[in-house]
Amino acid sequence: NNRISVDDEEGLKEVVEEFLDRYYDSQGTEFTLRDLIESYPGRKHLSIDYKRLEFFDPDLADLLLVEPLVIDELEKKAREMALEKYDANLDKGFNVRVKNLPDDIYLQIRNIRQHHINRFFPIDGIVQKATQVMPQATLAVFKCEECHEIMEIRQKSETEFKSPPKCYNEKCGAGSSKIEFLEKKSEFRDFQKIKIQEPPEQLTGGEKPEDITVKAKDDLAGKVTPGNRVTVNGFVKIEKRENSRIYDPYVEANNIELEEQEFQRIEISSGDEEKIRKLSEDPQIYSKIIESMVPAVYGYSNIKEAVALQLFSGQPKKNPDGTRIRGDIHTLLIGDPGTAKSQILRYISDLAPRGVYASGKSVSAAGLTAAAVKDEFSEGAFTLEAGALVLSDQGVCAIDEFDKIEAEDLNALNDAMEQQEIAVHKAGIDSTLKTRCAVLSAANPKYGRFDEFEPIPEQLNIDPTLLSRFDLIFPITDKPDRDRDNRIAEHILNTNRLGEKRKREEVMDRNIVDEGDAEVVRVKSEIEPDLLRKYVAKARQISPVMTQEARDKLKEFYIELRNERWDSSSSVDEDPLPITARNLEALIRLGEASARTRLSDKVKLKDAERAIRIVDNCLSKVKES
Ligand code: ADP
Ligand code: MG
Repeated sequence: NNRISVDDEEGLKEVVEEFLDRYYDSQGTEFTLRDLIESYPGRKHLSIDYKRLEFFDPDLADLLLVEPLVIDELEKKAREMALEKYDANLDKGFNVRVKNLPDDIYLQIRNIRQHHINRFFPIDGIVQKATQVMPQATLAVFKCEECHEIMEIRQKSETEFKSPPKCYNEKCGAGSSKIEFLEKKSEFRDFQKIKIQEPPEQLTGGEKPEDITVKAKDDLAGKVTPGNRVTVNGFVKIEKRENSRIYDPYVEANNIELEEQEFQRIEISSGDEEKIRKLSEDPQIYSKIIESMVPAVYGYSNIKEAVALQLFSGQPKKNPDGTRIRGDIHTLLIGDPGTAKSQILRYISDLAPRGVYASGKSVSAAGLTAAAVKDEFSEGAFTLEAGALVLSDQGVCAIDEFDKIEAEDLNALNDAMEQQEIAVHKAGIDSTLKTRCAVLSAANPKYGRFDEFEPIPEQLNIDPTLLSRFDLIFPITDKPDRDRDNRIAEHILNTNRLGEKRKREEVMDRNIVDEGDAEVVRVKSEIEPDLLRKYVAKARQISPVMTQEARDKLKEFYIELRNERWDSSSSVDEDPLPITARNLEALIRLGEASARTRLSDKVKLKDAERAIRIVDNCLSKVKES
């Protein structure tokens, strides 16, 4: 039973005035009404912290969520008070923007229903596409060519442009063909259409993300770029489809809050915290993590170790000159068909807190990187659309069929993987999109499968520059091997049989992991995926630092490696996989990721040794043939 209601107009006005007065005069918030007027030149918006509003007046806070008029009233009153009290004019496109809504009213895009219409919600999403910022008419002015009558029409509809059917002057009454639109006298606002999609961490088990259109106006237009993680606070509205009874929902944004670096709406309860702490202190944690990678796939302990470290990731760094060194580890599995590559990619993209699975043969216009397209969504203007690498910013991007990537994407890929951003300059769109993700990719060799008689590097049908972006390359050959084949067959048959009776999670508990291809051991997959995901999210907040011993060890190995290669290669120019400073960076990243697996902020000697073993192993496999 709310003590205020919209029917009691006077009452509402009073409450709003009291709020604007007291809230902003007594609290030291960033944008008090007075601050706004005195120091903020545009006077474009007033930011209201919902949690403070709730504290100040719970009834008004409740009403705001169900009644769009409350914000209108706040805007009107603020404008009035600014003029009265401070003799100041607020901007024409002045808005009251509400931030910091409570966690328990967040709405997931796929759950939007008719009863949400005209109600106010915060919605999390990743910006998938955004149109150019376009002027939208708010007040249209017309002139009759016959009698020079001036007519004004306030444009309220999102879709229709209203013009006078005939001259308003009764004595004239000229038809619409005589009525001229006066663009110069009319008023416009900035407008942008955005599409947001559900962030991967809200999805489970390969669900396809759903999306919704967001309409951003005035100072909100142009605030976001594709790939941004945002919270949109706004009213759910509907728009009629042509010749249909069906309406499409969209969100009329009141505010768009950009999420900071460590956006984690992954709920970690205090119970989880305790489990995570216990795990991190387990001396076996490292092997337990590796054993929890793709348990349904037999063998590949090296690859599993590498993808595990990929999840944990190294620490990005800034050079003194401002350039950035990525922390993300990129891996490439290249090998014969039917060797479980795709299965590994799917599993890891599911397991990663922010994982996206994509194929090199991508069907969307945006491909893997980004595209500026003219489409229906933008009603003829340009829309910038994010591809998989942008959407997996700060996560893991699994790219299958890497050898089939389209030429347009290939150019952008070099930058996307190393600088971790893509610049788009096209048709009035100037934007830089972030691609700070780890790339886990799979490809087939040049001739479909590896040719025993040719050196492996020559069978990697990928441009050497692009190849150099990978920290680790794993060739997988599928040569018949009685012993190993026997064990794989046993494993697959076992998994299938169990699968009939049990659920997927339970199957994961009984898996076989081989230790150095020697002996088959039965182990439990110790960490269930849900907990592991939280563990990874927690670990990624740690910034590990090198100890002196680790530093010395890596340096020694790197210098050794350089010299060894130099001696053995007849011509360095011909070496498709030369040893460069990039390899040293890879070693550092792997060492840091290894420290994070036990939630440690120190890269110790054992971490350095692991990194060296992994890199050494990869290089010798590639050289093998
Ligand atoms: P790729 O992408 O390498 O061509 P897939 O991932 O499509 O191969 O795998 C083909 C099938 O073979 C999958 O069902 C996969 O589970 C199975 N398979 C291949 N190797 C293994 C393995 N080592 N352990 C378990 N299953 C395997
Ligand atoms: Mg495949």
